[in-house]
Amino acid sequence: MLRPPVLNWASLWKRSVVLTHCPSKSVMACELHAKRLEGVDKNIWVEFTQLAAEYKVVNLGQGFPDFSPPSFIREAFCNALNGGASMHQYTRAFGHPPLVKILAKFFGRIVGREIDPMEDILVTVGAYQALFCTFQALINEGDEVIIVEPFFDCYQPMVMMGRGTPVYIPLKPRKSTGPGLSSADWVLCSEELASKISPRTKAIVINTPNNPLGKVFQRDELQMIADLCIKHDIICISDEVYEWLTYDGEKHIKIASLPGMWERTVTIGSAGKTFSATGWKVGWAMGPGHIMKHLKTVHQNSVYHTATAAQEAVAMGFQKEYDTFGTEESYFKQLPAMLHAKRLRLAECLRSVGLEPIMPQGGYFMITDISGLKVDLNDPSTKGEPYDFRIVKWLIKEKGLATIPVSGFYSQEHSGDFQKYIRFCFVKEDSTLKAAEDILKQWRIKQIWL
Ligand code: PMP
Ligand code: GLN
Repeated sequence: MLRPPVLNWASLWKRSVVLTHCPSKSVMACELHAKRLEGVDKNIWVEFTQLAAEYKVVNLGQGFPDFSPPSFIREAFCNALNGGASMHQYTRAFGHPPLVKILAKFFGRIVGREIDPMEDILVTVGAYQALFCTFQALINEGDEVIIVEPFFDCYQPMVMMGRGTPVYIPLKPRKSTGPGLSSADWVLCSEELASKISPRTKAIVINTPNNPLGKVFQRDELQMIADLCIKHDIICISDEVYEWLTYDGEKHIKIASLPGMWERTVTIGSAGKTFSATGWKVGWAMGPGHIMKHLKTVHQNSVYHTATAAQEAVAMGFQKEYDTFGTEESYFKQLPAMLHAKRLRLAECLRSVGLEPIMPQGGYFMITDISGLKVDLNDPSTKGEPYDFRIVKWLIKEKGLATIPVSGFYSQEHSGDFQKYIRFCFVKEDSTLKAAEDILKQWRIKQIWL
């Protein structure tokens, strides 16, 4: 039973003393937490990153490059650090001026409109914080937020912490078996999407290129979503952190660039993904000033701003990309070219051990159906967990290979249908991919000979 809070120092001190000496399930602990934390305490990244570290694995799990960012951006960071006292002090709360200016210039050219650097952009601690500010700023208790599945897992807890209600719609594979599967085969049903809209629908969240599937939404698919947003006066939250990573001629399209969508879209970006520097934690949200001002309210009252020198370096990086855009010198061209080869290599390896990958059109992940694997799952510590969670834990513990279970990217109501997939990350050194290949092939050979 929740007791009314007693806010005096003596009782707070007493509670903290009691807590440090009590098991976490004590009544004391239960009454301390805020209600909005209920149901959001589990996190696949915390769980699987910890497990991977414990077993010292070949890591194709968490999505980060195991190689360095390009030298121009590392030099930019060094220059920023040596660039004078101001680089080590606070900067403008909503984004370091050189960074918001170049982001506005860069993306203004892409969406074909003038972007106001001071009004329309908020620089955040990674795309994560941009997403958090968005949900906190826009979602009221009882608001419904439509989330396209599979989805980057944090959307769900972030909606719930805003006291909103997530409403899910899965992308569904057009064909269920056969060679040559592609993320392009996974589609949204427009009638089903329309049926999910209610008078309480406030926003729809899309992620293109998608994590974990790699789907790149096509213009007609985005137009269908845009038409519904406009018709029902819904905000679109578009997570585009993998925007430069598309393959085989696929083109990333910003939904904010479609007619009538800038006014109602918050676009999320990540310098971590853009420049292969996930640890820098620089991200942004971009959209019309009348929406962005609410995100800024959350930001100014929580984080205030992200590290000045990192923002300065990202600004320099974007300036270079602005100048070389579309040429062979552009990192936004070089990175997908490099990943294209790694993507083919991983796919070939999976096929060689009898797994059929779903070829991603974009991003740096690949999912594969593992229901054909013959594994004796007798680990009692994972009993009762979803099949893909058990397989991934088994792979970590028994084979020294880390991947990520795909049902973690689904709501509880739909996760049962997607437990047969696991996700591999291919933004890794060739030597890491080779080590993963060796593990898979060795295991396969043993299986054949058994
Ligand atoms: N969105 C998606 C789809 C992601 O995969 C990630 C993970 N990088 C994020 C947002 C968070 O990005 P960041 O590391 O910039 O916080
Ligand atoms: N976005 C990355 C992934 O999907 C990392 C997420 C995280 O570590 N929280 O693997």
